[in-house]
Amino acid sequence: MPLLDTQDREMLTKEFKMGDDQYDVVIIGGGPAGTSAAIYTSRADLRTLVIDKGLTAGALGITGMISNYPGVVGPVSGAELVETMRQQAESFGAEFLNDKVVGVDLSAEPKMIMAGTRMVYAKVVILATGSMGRTTSIPGEVELLGHGVSYCATCDGAFFRDKVVAVVGNNDEAVEEALYLTKFAAHVHFVVPTPQLKAREATAAELLHHPHVEVHLGTVAKAITGDQQVKGIRIRPRGGEETELPIDGAFVYLQGGKPITDFLMGQLETTEQGCLIVDQEMHTQTPGVFAVGDLLCSHVKQAVIAAADGVIAAIAAEKYVRERSAVRADWG
Ligand SMILES: Cc1cc2nc3c(=O)[nH]c(=O)nc-3n(C[C@H](O)[C@H](O)[C@H](O)COP(=O)(O)OP(=O)(O)OC[C@H]3O[C@@H](n4cnc5c(N)ncnc54)[C@H](O)[C@@H]3O)c2cc1C
Repeated sequence: MPLLDTQDREMLTKEFKMGDDQYDVVIIGGGPAGTSAAIYTSRADLRTLVIDKGLTAGALGITGMISNYPGVVGPVSGAELVETMRQQAESFGAEFLNDKVVGVDLSAEPKMIMAGTRMVYAKVVILATGSMGRTTSIPGEVELLGHGVSYCATCDGAFFRDKVVAVVGNNDEAVEEALYLTKFAAHVHFVVPTPQLKAREATAAELLHHPHVEVHLGTVAKAITGDQQVKGIRIRPRGGEETELPIDGAFVYLQGGKPITDFLMGQLETTEQGCLIVDQEMHTQTPGVFAVGDLLCSHVKQAVIAAADGVIAAIAAEKYVRERSAVRADWG
């Protein structure tokens, strides 16, 4: 009986040459789970890339103050804590890409990861996108999805050349996507439900001063209107009158509480709640694919637990890569 089946054999005999776009490990999500995994994989000399869509797009990134992370007396902001973790990972050689993953092919060998601006390949993928996934909340959003409503400016922005669009949200991801849209759209309405932006100072300032962006602070998006196509957005500023802005497209980035798995397009099994399923080493059913942190709904949601998950996955990932390389070397 052969040690490996035909599929495994084919996988292992295929050449995997490390080019600029090829990594041992690609980690999707740079919160405490993903970043802790990166500290361990990069320290183990595995070429590691973390792709993250925005520091304040994750649960820890939006946390105002944190005082219960062991070893960090605090209080520090969640964003500061994640930054420190990222610096530690970078000091061991991990690379970070500020981008959003929009698709993956986990059965390909090497595995393929599509971000808005780059396509990369990896022997191992660690999923760490957390559970701040949107829950559709604006009337008209579901009905007009794909007819002017979008969740991805990097994917759909070019369809709105010289048009008027609205972006709804208040975090780094929303701000960066709005700035990206200014490349195409004639005018961008940025509708922020809170009185202040929760994005990094530099990007927030760029947005606030951009000549083609109108920021509506403390304003609730009441409905997206249109029949077959988006025609407008009804908004109400705090203490003000409801009005309708004529628009051609609406990009929605409101955070909810669902595990973020949309980019997997059903390639991995989930529970009824949409959570990923893993074994004790954080390995999913797909060889070489691990999942960590708030994506798994099986435990207490705390930063230190997400970080610990990341470490378990990183150690298992290292073992997985080394074992595969050893088998390949044996075949010499
Ligand atoms: C308001 C609030 C307060 C909290 N307070 C505390 C506290 O005091 N102490 C504590 O220990 N825990 C606290 N928590 C819980 C803690 O923040 C989470 O358990 C922890 O952040 C989970 O880590 P994670 O890495 O799994 O996910 P996250 O921290 O959510 O990180 C996920 C990352 O994935 C990125 N991402 C998502 N989708 C994509 C994509 N498609 N492409 C690229 N990147 C993507 C996001 O940008 C984000 O950076 C709090 C949570 C909240 C919401």
